[in-house]
Amino acid sequence: MDGKALAARVREEVARDVAELGSLGLATILVGDDPASDVYVRLKHKDAAEVGIRTFDKRLPADTPQDEVLALVEEANADDGIDGLLVQTPVPGHLDEFAILSAVRPEKDVDGLTPHNAGLLYLGRNGHIGATPLGVMRMLAEYRIPTAGARAVVLGRSPIVGKPMAFLLLQANATVTVCHSRTEDLMRHTLDADILVAAVGVPHLVTREMVKAHATVVDVGITRTDAGLVGDVDPSVADVAGHLTPVPGGVGPMTRAMLLHSTVRAARYRRGLLPLP
Ligand code: NAP
Repeated sequence: MDGKALAARVREEVARDVAELGSLGLATILVGDDPASDVYVRLKHKDAAEVGIRTFDKRLPADTPQDEVLALVEEANADDGIDGLLVQTPVPGHLDEFAILSAVRPEKDVDGLTPHNAGLLYLGRNGHIGATPLGVMRMLAEYRIPTAGARAVVLGRSPIVGKPMAFLLLQANATVTVCHSRTEDLMRHTLDADILVAAVGVPHLVTREMVKAHATVVDVGITRTDAGLVGDVDPSVADVAGHLTPVPGGVGPMTRAMLLHSTVRAARYRRGLLPLP
């Protein structure tokens, strides 16, 4: 499944929406100088600028106290020029990440990590949802992968990928199993999957013996190695899978495009064009 090509189409849609809605803003808050987070933030700004979304790059030193981080979140919440707002994670260890993420106004919470948006997903009344699971669902829809009645297995249960992924597949009427680091006999579960989503961060964890013939395999994992970016799925899975997302060029570009899509959604919430449940 070609995430790069589909992402290009999503960006075109977003550019049209931006032109229709007028000025839109996306702000990121980065605490500290983690190099990987710095790369992610830069890419978000580049992507947004390309579709005409204004960006705000807010940075604080690694030792910033909790109240100062919260004050910056509040400032961004109150800023009318900012539609989408995200705090890059992980934040430095002395900070209370849950409290900081929870402080983002739900309308602006494009990562879907506030209790309000996460709770809406749980209740099946979707508000903002993280860009990665949204991107995966969009890919499944574009490639007409049947979800109703399908057996879906999600590897990983993080709040940013695994859990929202599982809830979206459940909403799409799949029968969902969630596996994690304490799951025994992973293969017993994966072999049953019509749709297998790997969001673990262990290079090539999923081998061809673990995949049912003609299954749809979505590789969310990204690990940086000397040889480049490596996914959770061994390339030999291509021999058995019906559909497979490559790394790079699969979920990564879709995640980047769907963040822009979510910024448009944030703008619609904020302008009263769409009610946030
Ligand atoms: P995370 O917070 O570290 O969560 C990893 C999950 O994998 C946890 O639930 C963990 O289980 C589970 N796990 C660890 N080892 C396992 C094993 N051997 N077998 C089964 N499950 C295992 O990571 P994340 O933020 O969800 O990200 C997951 C991966 O996706 C990472 O490689 C990340 O870089 C990548 N990612 C990619 C994109 C993209 O755009 N392509 C976006 C976001 C993340 P426990 O809960 O028991 O610890």
